[in-house]
Amino acid sequence: MKHLHTAALQEDARLAEEEPPGAGASMVKEEEDEPPSTKLALDHQPIFSHVPAENWNDWKWHLRNRIVTVEGLAQYMLLSAKEQRHLKMVISKYPMSITPYYLSLVDMHDPEDPVRKQAVPAIEEVALAGIGFDDPLAEEGCSVVPGLVHRYPDRVLMVLTDLCPTLCRHCTRKREWHHGGWVRNPGEIEAMLDYIRRNKNVRDVIISGGDPLILSTRRLEQVISGLRRIDHVEIIRIGSRFPVVLPQRIDDELCDMLSDYGPIWLNTHFNHVNEITPESASACDRLVRSGVPVNNQSVLLRGVNDSVKAQTELCHGLLKIKVRPYYLYQCDEVRGTEHLRTPVETGIKIIEGMRGHTSGLGVPTFVIDLPQGGGKVPLQPDYVLAQTEEKLILRNYEGRLFRYRNPSGPRTRSNAHNGRKRAAAKQKAAPFTVGS
Ligand code: SF4
Repeated sequence: MKHLHTAALQEDARLAEEEPPGAGASMVKEEEDEPPSTKLALDHQPIFSHVPAENWNDWKWHLRNRIVTVEGLAQYMLLSAKEQRHLKMVISKYPMSITPYYLSLVDMHDPEDPVRKQAVPAIEEVALAGIGFDDPLAEEGCSVVPGLVHRYPDRVLMVLTDLCPTLCRHCTRKREWHHGGWVRNPGEIEAMLDYIRRNKNVRDVIISGGDPLILSTRRLEQVISGLRRIDHVEIIRIGSRFPVVLPQRIDDELCDMLSDYGPIWLNTHFNHVNEITPESASACDRLVRSGVPVNNQSVLLRGVNDSVKAQTELCHGLLKIKVRPYYLYQCDEVRGTEHLRTPVETGIKIIEGMRGHTSGLGVPTFVIDLPQGGGKVPLQPDYVLAQTEEKLILRNYEGRLFRYRNPSGPRTRSNAHNGRKRAAAKQKAAPFTVGS
């Protein structure tokens, strides 16, 4: 596969003065380069209070200062010698990258912190590496041209890069992390656009990664404007975790550009209420005001959000920042994520604990993305206890039973009369003993 690798990316960055650098920078170096300042960052980020606000609010500063080494992490988090050894072992197989912003959300004194679990490597990633698959969804076999996956008739997936600002430990595409950072070059992007031009049934294009918003706004616009020139492309969807791990990226320049090419939808990935901050709320607000609806696709993770309380708090928080809870994914069967996976029953019980107890808008659809590209299957508690042609016995969220007449056939007077007669006769023979 032909890519622009990190060095080329940096060169392009220099020319455009806007691309992110590779993952080599450490916190130590940047701190040495930074002039001392008394200007404090935001109040809830005490460990980064030495960072001037202009840097803290600059998404490129965060990219340059991602925490990618054990030594870098140890500056902020107490790590025993054993923990450091383990971390090094894991990082050699599955790299680490955490934006200072995302690390600032971690309670450094709590080893069970839900943000920490998503960002800081765990020894189980290698200890349980015998379980799972590198590519459980069989994405690699479905590329029609490099970077373009066409699995369903009316939609395609464009993968523009393998770079992400923070590497999530539960990522389905962990297998890509070894490839060292690439973005598609103009020739590859043109080949993707050409394929879409020639396939007139493609009406929906999903731009994903890696995280596509790691590209400069200028380069992103080249892709999006190319898509918009194709008449049969109706909607564009962007998959990005930037609103969660680096909301400073959602700046006016990006939002102005996106508003020129709608309809564009953005699917993001909040997993815990602690990720909802004034900065992430402001990022989502900017997107929505630019005409970009924001949906959330969270992943069910052991010890992070695997309870009714955690999911309810998350979904309530999302609604408050105008983000719609869309999907709750069962964590895919990815090698190196087994310690974060939950039994399927956990997800069903969570939905059962939410449905009816809060507004339907706040209840996501729980789905399993089937292995080998079988697609998404929604799972939910069984509310139908019995069913005949004439009626159903349904259970509500409180466990009360209800009889519901099942209409059948065209509504004529004689049908309705006969139906009532049949129902009355059956009820006389075997009356239900349920509430109404
Ligand atoms: S942002 Fe998405 S693609 Fe990137 S590491 Fe996280 S889960 Fe994986």
